[in-house]
Amino acid sequence: MKRKTFLKSTAAVLGSSMLPSLSFADETKKNSIRFAHLTDIHVKPGLIPETGMAKALHHAQQQKVDFIINGGDSINDALGATKQKTQEQWDIFKTILKKENSLSVYHTIGNHDIWGWFVKNEKPDNDRLYGKIWVTETLELKKRYYNFKKGNWNFIVLDSTQLNPEGGYIGKLDEEQLTWLQEVLSKIPKTEFICIVSHIPILSICSSLFFKKTEANGDLLIKRNLMHTDFFSLKNLFLNYPQIKVCISGHIHLQDEVRYLGINYFCNGAVSGNWWNGSFQEFAPSYAIMELFNDGTVKRTMIPYE
Ligand SMILES: [Zn+2]
Repeated sequence: MKRKTFLKSTAAVLGSSMLPSLSFADETKKNSIRFAHLTDIHVKPGLIPETGMAKALHHAQQQKVDFIINGGDSINDALGATKQKTQEQWDIFKTILKKENSLSVYHTIGNHDIWGWFVKNEKPDNDRLYGKIWVTETLELKKRYYNFKKGNWNFIVLDSTQLNPEGGYIGKLDEEQLTWLQEVLSKIPKTEFICIVSHIPILSICSSLFFKKTEANGDLLIKRNLMHTDFFSLKNLFLNYPQIKVCISGHIHLQDEVRYLGINYFCNGAVSGNWWNGSFQEFAPSYAIMELFNDGTVKRTMIPYE
């Protein structure tokens, strides 16, 4: 079946089987900002990923959210993919998003959205689209990191993934981005609140549980590509800004919540679960509903959407 026809009929089926929207509103807390955080969609050609993405989008829109934050890893992989395969994945992502979603979407760049870093042979580093340019342009981002505001809440969307000269990638902010972050934070009034979005968790326990094992000597290790390696400097920076109430991330495909020094760090699972093959460890394909209240408190609800 042609993708277009297929998605059309899927949408019809999904529409008729929608559950009534769940109510998470706490009566004592009015004027909350309510959004869906869909992360690690990892869409690729195929029935399951394509219908899965459409289903998650429909489900989220039924929850009366104001907007969507896409946490990154929108496509399966561009890091090691050819130009053609990368184009195919972005075409699918954009087509489904346009067709199956009517809300504003704020995108985050995930490691797998970066083109060419791991392409063997014929390295495409002379190509204009190499690295983060392609994803930035495709998702129409003004910059690879940016901020926006909703009511009394400021959102800061970071670019977590940097090329590691020793191989692979590393979770951290580059110098330029850190300077920008310091500037943005310094301008936010004390009476407002802040939500920080990153693809790779700034702090999470599930980053150490991804490989489901300890080192031979019993140590539980957190790899440099599974949590921000600049955590200590970010923590010190954040201590100056009590308005920072919540940090949300994806990348790990596991879910956790860590409250540390007054900040709630939520790692919000994956829409693709075990990369479109059911649950990853104990976690079914899910997305998060985030509620940010006008007293600075926060509520996260994980939604298995299947
Ligand atoms: Zn990732």
